[in-house]
Amino acid sequence: MSTLDDNIARARDYMARFAKDGVMNHIGGENVPAVSGETFEIISPVDLSTLAQVAKSDAADIDRAAKAAKEAFKSWSKTPGAERRKILIKVAEAIEARAEEIAFVECMDTGQALRFMSKAALRGAANFRFFADQAPASEDGAVTRTPTQMNTTTRRPIGPVGVITPWNTPFMLSTWKIAPALAAGCTVVQKPAEFSPMTAKLLVEIAESAGLPKGVLNVVNGLGETAGKSLTEHKDIKAIAFVGESNTGSHIMRQGAATLKRVHFELGGKNPVIVFDDADIDRAVDAATFMIYSLNGERCTSSSRLLVQDTIYEEFTARVAKVAKSIKVGHPLDPETVVGPLIHPVHEEKVLSYFETAKKEGAIIAAGGEKIGEEGCYIGPTLFTDASNDMAIAQEEIFGPVLTAIPFKDEADALSIANDVEYGLAAYLWTNDLNRAMRMTDELEAGMMWVNSENIRHLPTPFGGVKSSGIGRDGGDWSFDFYMETVNVSFPRAEHKIPKLGG
Ligand code: NAD
Repeated sequence: MSTLDDNIARARDYMARFAKDGVMNHIGGENVPAVSGETFEIISPVDLSTLAQVAKSDAADIDRAAKAAKEAFKSWSKTPGAERRKILIKVAEAIEARAEEIAFVECMDTGQALRFMSKAALRGAANFRFFADQAPASEDGAVTRTPTQMNTTTRRPIGPVGVITPWNTPFMLSTWKIAPALAAGCTVVQKPAEFSPMTAKLLVEIAESAGLPKGVLNVVNGLGETAGKSLTEHKDIKAIAFVGESNTGSHIMRQGAATLKRVHFELGGKNPVIVFDDADIDRAVDAATFMIYSLNGERCTSSSRLLVQDTIYEEFTARVAKVAKSIKVGHPLDPETVVGPLIHPVHEEKVLSYFETAKKEGAIIAAGGEKIGEEGCYIGPTLFTDASNDMAIAQEEIFGPVLTAIPFKDEADALSIANDVEYGLAAYLWTNDLNRAMRMTDELEAGMMWVNSENIRHLPTPFGGVKSSGIGRDGGDWSFDFYMETVNVSFPRAEHKIPKLGG
């Protein structure tokens, strides 16, 4: 039996429960169907076969989950931080113990390659460990003293929060939102993406098996415009942490306005990788191709615009095209696979439509640009060259293994092209001139920049975007700013005399 056949057999075992019982909601520690009894079907990106039936929830289910989260908040928010830490570390250990199951299920549900998903499961555990360690001090603040007052400024958890997640790397992204919320003392209602709900179900089960009290984390499945919308409108949900498209962020802001929801948005990107002719070209080729072709390019921080100095443009794009053509596209569970099938035929259609757009706009397809095979959502790693920044392929988030290359003349030209998009999530800069790197990073409109490297995350650093790419930051203590209220209490000092207004 080949490794792929063996992996497929193991995945079938892990997936059997979902095929049999579907993906139901998880509310107050119970596995429950939607109140309406309705379900919708999810399909495999590998061959479009039916994977499972999923609870199709609406406002009634969200209300049940919000009530469970509100009830659980009473004790979880008062559980000492050190105790929360212990439980969340156990969750991290339980994730590690079931990392293979999580990775296999994620691959089958999303089409992402196993080589990346096995690391994503472990990154989920790392997220829990990192935020667990911060739980004991999460309420800490400052004491400030004046001649008349002693001020104590502390933080307290904001309340039950809603977490709405997208279909790309859903397990990792769920932990990235849920771990800090739980560490802060909040309870959670999660609405996973309708295309990829399976690993959210695994996470809540794993968390409860590790000792997370029932009702602290609840999962409600369903469509964005019904279940998601109800979550953003519910009066008992105090904040919404959302990862998804910029346009959906605007909807959520409107939907949450009546209840004055606090929002935290991680949205789309059209991130430039800018390569100057003094850069280490070998490393730049590796990083640029890694950042667009890994994770199927279905990644918010993908380097989807390649800006190359005109002196090295031909050579550099030829090398990128060579890499793109050599990348193995295949079954997500094949250990050799780099690019798996895109998440869903609907998304595949969107990505394929840009191949026509590129041709109409006059760009050249230097690699890929077509569907692979008859079955499943496979497309070839693609490079568009000779593009200009006003083209749709340079402005719109394609969210696939598709790179648009644009030449530039000098620093000013590179900056003007890089900043001329509505997004501002990440930017990657390649130059060996330190002063140039300083000048460029001063002016680039992006929340996160990497100089001479691919995207490497360090969890204490802030993660988030500017412009249409987001509101707020995650990571370090920034996550706690979102999930907690800052409260000041003032005590009078002996010297303080209260003004008398009369009698
Ligand atoms: P999406 O916006 O279509 O959906 C995301 C989630 O929002 C889903 O759970 C969906 O059901 C829900 N939703 C949809 N409409 C809603 C509504 N009206 N009210 C409440 N919830 C609603 O995004 P997607 O296609 O699942 O994910 C891809 C997008 O996510 C890309 O734009 C990508 O860049 C972005 N993303 C950003 C980051 C980041 O950190 N900035 C990370 C990952 C993904």
